[in-house]
Amino acid sequence: MRLVLLGPPGAGKGTLASFLNKELGIPHVSTGDILREEMKNNTSLGQEVKQYVESGGLVPDEVVIKLIENKFSSDCAIDKGYMLDGFPRTEVQAKDLDALLNDLQKPVDQVIYLDASLPVVIKRLTGRRICRNCGAIFHMKNNPPKEEGICNECGGEVYQRPDDNEETIQTRMDVYLDNTKPVIEYYEDQGKLKKVDADRDSQEVQESLMKIFNGDR
Ligand code: ADP
Ligand code: ZN
Repeated sequence: MRLVLLGPPGAGKGTLASFLNKELGIPHVSTGDILREEMKNNTSLGQEVKQYVESGGLVPDEVVIKLIENKFSSDCAIDKGYMLDGFPRTEVQAKDLDALLNDLQKPVDQVIYLDASLPVVIKRLTGRRICRNCGAIFHMKNNPPKEEGICNECGGEVYQRPDDNEETIQTRMDVYLDNTKPVIEYYEDQGKLKKVDADRDSQEVQESLMKIFNGDR
């Protein structure tokens, strides 16, 4: 299955991707994760993108498009399909992606739009905590780690992303509304968009999605 996951920050793309990866074995490609890894390793790319990511702005299109090109031309795991999370985020990225995927003869099958409202995403993102080691996602209120600061899955350190503060979340939402909304229309016009109510908890979202995949809707 070849999927794009769309939706505002905090809509639950990462949580859903990790579920689909476990359930269906689809490889997960997250530009946010790739960029954070580069920043952690302090590579020249990491240094170049840091200011954008930490302020909640977008990394320039050319930079992320190059990342995806490299990933897709080097990684044969994507022969089993892919699940793009956090990309495309602008119309330019969406068009370049289509060109690339047509060349590779691996066009997008479906685009899942996780539709979540602003008050819900603010609550989720301000409480969000992440395992530095395995990427498991927690929430201080709804789903705290059993032992404070320690990941249930792997024992790694649980931390708060520096861009998960209220001010930066607002910037990310504004950026989303200005740049990513057009991407939703772009896929809607192609007849590929499947909209899911993402204000509900993740288990319900997962059930709706499995129904979509089974063709029940
Ligand atoms: P979220 O969806 O929670 O906002 P991500 O982990 O997807 O976060 O992305 C974090 C940051 O990485 C973004 O705010 C942005 O700075 C950068 N980024 C990720 N993907 C892209 C992209 N496709 N284009 C431009 N910038 C990106
Ligand atoms: Zn972990």
